Amino acid sequence: MEMNKTPLESLCAALAYAMGVEPPKYAEAANEDLTAYIDRCLAGQKADRVFIYNTDAIGQWLVEKYPDLSAESRERMELELPMRTVNPPKTPCCFGTMYTGAAPKVHGIEVYEKKLITIDTLFDALARAGKKVALLSLNNYSMSIIFAGRDIDYYIYDVWSKVNAKAAELILKDEYDFILCYNANFDDIMHKKGPEHPETIAQMGFNFRTFCMYDEMIQTHWKHHNVLIGTGMDHGCHETEDGKGTHCEDSPRDRNIVHYYKIYPAQK
Ligand SMILES: [Zn+2]
Repeated sequence: MEMNKTPLESLCAALAYAMGVEPPKYAEAANEDLTAYIDRCLAGQKADRVFIYNTDAIGQWLVEKYPDLSAESRERMELELPMRTVNPPKTPCCFGTMYTGAAPKVHGIEVYEKKLITIDTLFDALARAGKKVALLSLNNYSMSIIFAGRDIDYYIYDVWSKVNAKAAELILKDEYDFILCYNANFDDIMHKKGPEHPETIAQMGFNFRTFCMYDEMIQTHWKHHNVLIGTGMDHGCHETEDGKGTHCEDSPRDRNIVHYYKIYPAQK
């Protein structure tokens, strides 16, 4: 397995591009595979709805080793985007880069540290452009801490089922321009039992099936919008010598990630 070449830094500006929004201040150049895909599907128009389901730690090697668990998700999506996440491949470093478009030394989280990011983020850029943003996460997790205090709406709960249920509710309500739903149930169990324990692998299936449900709801309820939908992880993982799981090293198993995207043009 070789290290993927496309840096995660390129994703943020491409997500801003999808909505026709100026990227955050320190974002690196937009991913051209994603911007070209958007242009091809929307013929120069922009998405007025974006839905992202970010899962934690389901590395590319796991998706490839257990393809049946993601088969329906992958069939529903159109653009497969392998990327190289940051080093160290730790959750707040990775999500910091995903939503600022900047390297860890620029956004300020260079080690495992759940602290507020103070530089410009995609959420700030979307808010400046008048977009309504919802961020859904679990209490005390990186996602609910590092992007706090923005001019967006937060839906933070104490169990994952409430996070996922609220995302479904927000899709039906159709009031937000950008919805980001985060889920770390795979990462939680992976650290305790190892990446390939049956209970850990079961969470991979759960997450891809959940994403299929969101995709189905969006196809049904957001027909009148130009939609970008996607799913993908922050980093990979590997098994430790004592049979547990971690992600900390500069290697393909920890740094190779893959995202999946699909555009649904508005139906006339
Ligand atoms: Zn993580």
